[in-house]
Amino acid sequence: MDLLALKRELDGMKIEDNEKIVQQKSRDFYWYSPVLKRQLDHVTGDLIVSPKSEAEVIRVLAACHRLGIPVTPRGTGTGNYGQAMPLSGGVVLSLAEMNEIKAISPGRVVTGPGAILADIDRATRAHSSQELRIHPSTYNTASIGGFIAGGSGGVGSINFGGLRDFGNVLRLRVVTMEARPKVLELTGEDLHKVTHAYGTNGIITEVEMPLTAAYDWVDVIVGFDTFMGAARYGNALACQDGLLTKLITPIAAPVPQLYFKRHSKFFAEGQSIVAVMVAPHALDAFLAFTRREGGAVAFNAATASDDDRKGLPPAYELAWNHTTLRALRVDPSITYLQSLYPFPNHLALVEKMDGMFPGEVFSHLEFVRFDGNITCFGLNLVRFTTEERLDEIVRLFEENGCPIFNPHRYTLEEGGMKQTDDIQLAFKREADPQGLLNPGKMIAWENPDYDYRSGKTFLFKGLQKAS
Ligand SMILES: Cc1cc2nc3c(=O)[nH]c(=O)nc-3n(C[C@H](O)[C@H](O)[C@H](O)COP(=O)(O)OP(=O)(O)OC[C@H]3O[C@@H](n4cnc5c(N)ncnc54)[C@H](O)[C@@H]3O)c2cc1C
Repeated sequence: MDLLALKRELDGMKIEDNEKIVQQKSRDFYWYSPVLKRQLDHVTGDLIVSPKSEAEVIRVLAACHRLGIPVTPRGTGTGNYGQAMPLSGGVVLSLAEMNEIKAISPGRVVTGPGAILADIDRATRAHSSQELRIHPSTYNTASIGGFIAGGSGGVGSINFGGLRDFGNVLRLRVVTMEARPKVLELTGEDLHKVTHAYGTNGIITEVEMPLTAAYDWVDVIVGFDTFMGAARYGNALACQDGLLTKLITPIAAPVPQLYFKRHSKFFAEGQSIVAVMVAPHALDAFLAFTRREGGAVAFNAATASDDDRKGLPPAYELAWNHTTLRALRVDPSITYLQSLYPFPNHLALVEKMDGMFPGEVFSHLEFVRFDGNITCFGLNLVRFTTEERLDEIVRLFEENGCPIFNPHRYTLEEGGMKQTDDIQLAFKREADPQGLLNPGKMIAWENPDYDYRSGKTFLFKGLQKAS
């Protein structure tokens, strides 16, 4: 790799080559997975390049194309699957400085890819009391470009489904990796070529996202004697058409007591919980419904004392993948699995799987709207013992009808959120003919003959050797 030539070509741009900083910026939250930690711990890029404009992105891509240097885009590196890690080294392209909020109008916002989600909401709230429809629990740190290229859904998915759904991304501007990079404006069906593609199909330089009405959401946590009580209540609440919520998260005891350090004082021993974000105008009706369903309100931000509220993280930072983060901080042997409990048997499946691994898998659900129905994902905590046992748990979930989106794999296909179809592959041939964008993440590109039924994990041949 002729990095000196690259530096000469990119003269005047912001480039970082300090080894420690480069390594730091070559990582994401891959270490959530003991499997990825073992496989990817040594991975590092060679340079961090931070373009400030689309014109600079084009310069970097053209130069790297000429010199055959891989480019791995990065928002703020909060992805979980080694998504933003440069498996073959080369340039880590940090889009963090392209964070301009460019235009806000009824139902829409246009930003640079590096804009932080919470900053977007601050601007749209101040402008016209609007907010993003969906955000990950990494709201305060993640970029919008990284969310679209690497995320799937989150807070708000109970109303709007996931990023994969039509209408949840409006338009993307994307730069291709060619001798003369093209700038494409993608809308409608074409968006699927780039959303959740880990940056393998082009660099996003501008996004247009839909907005919804903003509220000062109220955090409420409801306690139940049993986990299934919590799960059934979560489902019933999600099915209440008149109650506006943004988050419905059942979590089994003893997770809240052991791992939610700042909240644990609110929970009785053995109590399973449901963390909820509810719109202020729906609060009274929500509390009446909760009483009727036999839930005990353990915490209500609307009535809690200043002392009780002091230092508490927001409810969404107990949910989605923050549940795992909080557990990991206390017990490093914890990891997780993400599953779907398909409608309409989701509650029966939840009950079955919850009973199958006592003391080893701790249930954590996120209720969502999925293809028009209410169902739930599991982001269940797993006490890790061996990779073989983890694979066995995956197999048992799948054999019982709960697909797993495996967070212990670094490829798009094995992660399971997206299967690479012919359209995407054809688009990759156009947008990145040399396969230099985030190499190693798309099996369909690296090894079209790969046999998914082999039961073996795909190993990318270009995975940089440990130094
Ligand atoms: C505690 C925790 C909680 C989380 N909760 C959620 C959640 O609720 N929902 C959810 O979906 N995810 C969640 N995640 C995963 C992740 O935080 C989000 O998907 C986040 O939006 C990623 O944004 P980022 O800026 O950190 O992206 P990065 O990690 O930097 O990048 C993600 C992927 O996008 C690619 N990429 C980045 N920018 C661009 C660009 N401009 N053009 C093309 N490709 C690009 C990268 O190469 C990488 O493959 C969570 C992670 C953690 C650690």
